[in-house]
Amino acid sequence: MTAISCPDYGIPNHMLRPNLVGLHNVSVRHYRALAFESSCDDTCVALLEKRSPTGPVEILAQKKETVNSVTTGGIVPLRAFHFHQKNISRIVTELGNEAGFGPSSPPDLICATRGPGMVGSLTASLQFAKGLAYAWDRPLVGTHHMLGHLLTPKISGSANAIDEPNPLVPQYPYLSLLVSGGHTMLVLSSSVHSHEVLVDTIDIAAGDALDKCARALGLSGNMTGRLLEQLVEEIPPEKKQLFHLIAADGTSTQFPLKLSQPLKSAKHQRIPETVLFSFASFLSSISRYVQETEMTIAQRQYAAYKLQQILFEHIVDRISVAFEKDALESVRRLSRVRDFVCSGGVGANRALRKKLCAVRSPNPLQFYFPDIKLCTDNAAMIGNAGMEIFEQLRLKSNLGILPIQKWPMEDLLAVDGWEKVSDEEFKKVTGWTQNVDSIKS
Ligand code: AMP
Ligand code: ZN
Repeated sequence: MTAISCPDYGIPNHMLRPNLVGLHNVSVRHYRALAFESSCDDTCVALLEKRSPTGPVEILAQKKETVNSVTTGGIVPLRAFHFHQKNISRIVTELGNEAGFGPSSPPDLICATRGPGMVGSLTASLQFAKGLAYAWDRPLVGTHHMLGHLLTPKISGSANAIDEPNPLVPQYPYLSLLVSGGHTMLVLSSSVHSHEVLVDTIDIAAGDALDKCARALGLSGNMTGRLLEQLVEEIPPEKKQLFHLIAADGTSTQFPLKLSQPLKSAKHQRIPETVLFSFASFLSSISRYVQETEMTIAQRQYAAYKLQQILFEHIVDRISVAFEKDALESVRRLSRVRDFVCSGGVGANRALRKKLCAVRSPNPLQFYFPDIKLCTDNAAMIGNAGMEIFEQLRLKSNLGILPIQKWPMEDLLAVDGWEKVSDEEFKKVTGWTQNVDSIKS
């Protein structure tokens, strides 16, 4: 994980501030979790380990395969469902051979994404996980996908952080920008089970907009948003400077692109009642530009550059407005926030990471950027979140749980299927008699 404190971009967090927990020697034994994520087009399985109640979660092994959507121009739900169904048992077997688990030495806990996501895709790994939990007599945790993204910085992801006794992790209450192919939201978290979505998208997600715009600009592949970033990064610096100076207001004869930040025109209130993101207009502007302009290399580069610039400025502006709005309210919920997580596939984008430092907040913010490979959907984040639910909340899921297509973060515990974990079962799984909270107190 990279954690930075603006403007010291790139300085690891553990070099900037020590962590408060000093109880890493209480380990009794380690425990392992097998985790599944298939909410969209990735089939991903991971094996995780925790060596002590206060230590970080470590990734022992992870395997991911993705549906090829190049020819279909987007994800087709039935194709994704078949892909997961077909490949999941082979991927688990391969991971088991590599990491040394299987029917004769099963992991201690099973975690799988329960929602939100595409129902067919979710069903494939949730059913598989339920089968393993039954066959191996292990507890199951049906995890919230966005909680996975939100807790990702707590995974020990970088070589020097793994053996750090006290790796720095975001402290509650903290804010997260979860920005991916299916979601774009700003979330205020006050505990593992208490989350409030402060800003949500009114239409499509940022990743969806970037993917579709990139395809309109002629890029093809899986994750065209990532290809768009590559295209922008390859533009020579002097050309980027020139692009930066040209306003995208449609008046340039050379680059007549018209692109503006949504929800900012005179007809909108500067501080609206509900702060929102909006990304659909980026797609209509880029599509119109592509139709009306002969696409030279320079035109494509300019459009890609301006798209990233203005879309990310919109994100930063809405977050800043959320802070301004909070400052005007009687109960200032953001006044204690010091830590800020940026996660989800688009969170891997370097230009977005740099721009976020420009968020206008009353307090200096400490930014947490998970490792780029952990930003996009992965099973490790689901295992990490499942372990946190099991340990901190002492909850597991019953084997009758169904996938949940739409599952608001606020309703994490308000859905059916949660069951209390007894002290005896907690000890059987973890080997510990007490969890972090009881050790701290
Ligand atoms: P997720 O839904 O979290 O798996 O993230 C997938 C989304 O993130 C897709 O829309 C990708 O195009 C987008 N994405 C992944 N990497 C990048 C990147 N470096 N820059 C912009 N978008 C990205
Ligand atoms: Zn995701």
